[in-house]
Amino acid sequence: MDDTLTRLKAAIENSGNIVFFGGAGVSTESGIPDFRSEDGLYNMKYKYPPETMVSYSFFLNNTEEFYRFYRDKLLHLDAQPNEAHRALARLEKQGKLKAVITQNIDGLHQKAGSVNVIELHGCSGRYYCMDCSMAYTSDILAESEGVPFCRCGGMVRPDVVLFEEALDMRVIDKAVNVIRDADVLIVGGTSLNVYPAAGLIRYYTGDMHILINKSETPYDSCANLIIRENIGEALGNI
Ligand code: ZN
Repeated sequence: MDDTLTRLKAAIENSGNIVFFGGAGVSTESGIPDFRSEDGLYNMKYKYPPETMVSYSFFLNNTEEFYRFYRDKLLHLDAQPNEAHRALARLEKQGKLKAVITQNIDGLHQKAGSVNVIELHGCSGRYYCMDCSMAYTSDILAESEGVPFCRCGGMVRPDVVLFEEALDMRVIDKAVNVIRDADVLIVGGTSLNVYPAAGLIRYYTGDMHILINKSETPYDSCANLIIRENIGEALGNI
């Protein structure tokens, strides 16, 4: 085990108040690519950039095209948790990890057994009717083609935060509180470029800010320990 992993292990062993903050990189090992990543298929199939297609105005004005992209790129019903999700669920059961804060919408942390998961951008497993607020699961997508509709006739939307939409302040408050109280903060699989990630990290006041990311981030200089590994490999070794 190299030196940085030894230090990660020691930090985890010595703490009973760890918070994990994760981004798209946590799910790539489950076969879920960052939807922003360019792949040839995307360029051939869609006329708009991904950021446009997951915006609220695009959803309202091009709902059918939105759902085509959503089903194709954002919905991963068969994806399974990977070593990173399982390791974090284990740490929570051991009473060491207080919360997972995630930018992902795939629900894989809960699937792995994590309980206290703060989902900044919502979850692709949840849906609701825009007229009567009736809640649905992703079954509604399996049971329909194109745009899903509620029994009342209203349009059903995913319970995810689209571009142009504000984040839920109650969710942000929860994230701020656990980060502020944490004695170890592990940030993984995110370049911290997506709002509000970088802003949230600033609430951490401890001296064990651990960054696990394959490539450099603009926030490397804030970290006390940097691990250049895949997140699953790093956490799976603990
Ligand atoms: Zn309805």
